[in-house]
Amino acid sequence: MVTKKKSTGVKGVKSRATAGTRAIPKTVPSATYKEPGLMKRLAMGAVVCAEGYVFELERRGYLQAGAFVPTVLLEHPEVVEQLHRDFAHAGSDVTQALTYYVHREKLRVIGREKDLEAMNHVALKIAKKIARKTQTLFAGDICNTNVYDPNDGKALKQVARIFEEQVGWAADAGVDYIVAETFSWGQEALMALDAIKKHSKVPAVVTFSMHRELVTREGWTAAETCRRLEAAGAEVVGLNCHRGPRTMLPLLKEIRDAVKCHVAGLPVPYRTTEEQPSFMSLTDPCCQDRRAFPVGLDPFVVTRQEIADFGREAYAMGINYLGVCCGAGPQHIRALAESLGRRPEGSKYSVDMSKHAFFGTDQKIKTVQTEYQSRL
Ligand SMILES: [Zn+2]
Repeated sequence: MVTKKKSTGVKGVKSRATAGTRAIPKTVPSATYKEPGLMKRLAMGAVVCAEGYVFELERRGYLQAGAFVPTVLLEHPEVVEQLHRDFAHAGSDVTQALTYYVHREKLRVIGREKDLEAMNHVALKIAKKIARKTQTLFAGDICNTNVYDPNDGKALKQVARIFEEQVGWAADAGVDYIVAETFSWGQEALMALDAIKKHSKVPAVVTFSMHRELVTREGWTAAETCRRLEAAGAEVVGLNCHRGPRTMLPLLKEIRDAVKCHVAGLPVPYRTTEEQPSFMSLTDPCCQDRRAFPVGLDPFVVTRQEIADFGREAYAMGINYLGVCCGAGPQHIRALAESLGRRPEGSKYSVDMSKHAFFGTDQKIKTVQTEYQSRL
C-alpha cells in the first residue's frame, strides 16, 4: 500500500472524493511504525502531532506567560525532554522541536538575542534525541514573527531572515519535516513556506490561525489561503491554534473541499463559541467578564471526550494531520490517539471504572458501596 502511494508522488495522496469515506483503522499502535517519513505515514492514515508546548510548560511552572519564550531550554532542558517523552507516551507520532518563539524578534523583545543560536540548537538536539528513542518523527518548527507588515520593506527582510536562519538550523539538525505555524497573515505563511522550500529538502506542514474574523489579516478565507499554500508547494496545509474544536471544524471542512493535499487541524482544547470563536476572545462570566486568555482559561478546557469527538469527526472528514495546540496536555493527545483506534503506551492507564469504590461493576466491589451510588 505504501509503495503504491509512493508512486503517486509525495503530495496529494487522498482525493477529495475519497477523503470522507476513509475507514478508521481499528488498531494502529505508534510502536509498529518503523520510521517511515511523514508522507508515508500520512498515506497510511492519520498522523498525531502534539503541539502547544509553551502553554504546558507555563502550567508546569517553567515558562512565563506573556512573552511566552521558552527560556526553559537553557534553564531546565530536562523539563523539555520530559515533556517530549510525555507526549510520545501519550500517542504523539511527532516530536516537534521547541523552537516556537525562539526566533530573533522574540529574543530581542526579552533582551536575549545572544542566546538565539544556543536555544535553537538545544531545542533541536533534545527533540531529535527523544524522536529517535520513541520512533516518532522529528519535526522542525518556525512560526509567526510578529513583525510581518506588508507595507514595510525592512520588516519583510527581517521576516525572511528569521525564517531562513531557523529553517537552516532545523535542516542541519536533520529534521524529517518542518512545521510553519500560527500565522495571522497568509502572506507570512507563504514566506515561511518559501524559506522551507529554499533552505531545506524536507516536506512542509503549513498551518495558520483564524482569529474572530473568518479571514486572514489581509482578508483571505481559510480555503483561499490553503489553495495558495498548496499551489506554492506545501505538502500539508491547514489550521492550528486560536480556535477550539467547535469553531475550527467548519473551517477545516471548507479547506478539505478546497485542496487536494493533506489537511491539518490542531485546535486549542477550549470551548470556543460562535460569539467568542477564538481563545483570545473568551471572557469569563465568573470574573466580571474579563478576558480569560492566557492564564484564566481553565474553566473553558474541553473534556477528553470532546477531543476524541473532534478526532473522529475530523478524520472522517479527511483531515489526517491531527493534533492539539496551546492548552494541550498529554491527556488530550492520548484521547485523540485513542479516537483514531490507537493504543499508545499511555493507554495502559486509560480510565477503567469497573473497580471504582462506588461505581465499579467488578464482583469484588462491595454492594454496601455500590448501593450508595445515587447518594454521592
Ligand atoms: Zn497554539
